[in-house]
Amino acid sequence: MPRWKKYTLICLVIAASCAWYAVFAESRSGLMVYFFDVGQGDSIFIQAENGNQILIDGGPGDAVLAELGNVLPFYDRTIDMLVLTHPDADHLNGLVEAVKRYKPKAVLETGVLHDTAQYEEWRTFLAKNKIPIAHAKAGEKFLVADGVTASVLFPFHDQEGEKPKAVNDTCIVLRMDYGETSFLFTGDIESKAERMLAILRHDAVDVDVLKVAHHGSKTSSVAEFLEAVSPETAVISVGRNNRYGHPHPEVIDRLSGLEIPVYRTDLRGTVVMRVFPDGTYVVE
Ligand SMILES: [Zn+2]
Repeated sequence: MPRWKKYTLICLVIAASCAWYAVFAESRSGLMVYFFDVGQGDSIFIQAENGNQILIDGGPGDAVLAELGNVLPFYDRTIDMLVLTHPDADHLNGLVEAVKRYKPKAVLETGVLHDTAQYEEWRTFLAKNKIPIAHAKAGEKFLVADGVTASVLFPFHDQEGEKPKAVNDTCIVLRMDYGETSFLFTGDIESKAERMLAILRHDAVDVDVLKVAHHGSKTSSVAEFLEAVSPETAVISVGRNNRYGHPHPEVIDRLSGLEIPVYRTDLRGTVVMRVFPDGTYVVE
């Protein structure tokens, strides 16, 4: 190779590495919250500025892997904590795929009994790989990173080994705080859990950004709950033309009646929020 060509090549390689670094460094400033577009289900990925990561639910299939691949550099094969809000397929199945590819330091789940092949596979995988499991109970608090905390608001008691009649109302509800900005991740809780939270944890559920419960089903987002949460922004994770008719027009009306802007994954794809330490945030 002529000398000039060699130098050009070296310069190109250096320039490409700098560009890659710039993209990567840029992606790390502020707290990032991704409401992944995984179809009819939930999957939320949180990355703190120091690189600590949480994945809440995995959606109904393996779409979460492509979403994580878009966000994470190829060499990152760990996620600090996986959260399974409840073992329904539209939250669990993608998490079963994610746990095989990204080794978690810990799993937060409810430990309820649920009779499906995917849940069996999930539990077997966790046990075989000796992944530490915490069972969620209101009052627990996790330090995600410096200045970023996640608090369990629901369930009110440890549900390990219980066989619930209504699995939606066993969901983990997490509040996350970063500076002045707060989020509420609600899984698929329905009116019963929402009313309990609105009455018993009235102040704790008051946040800026609400992940609307149960994909905008009309059995959730009751008026008392929305008034207690009084969010500035709402996000609905929902599949295009899903067979459940989610989100229900009544829920959309309730949110617009309270003048709460709504971001939907079926209309926008993945909803990306960047939160700054001064309490401001942007939807990208
Ligand atoms: Zn669901």
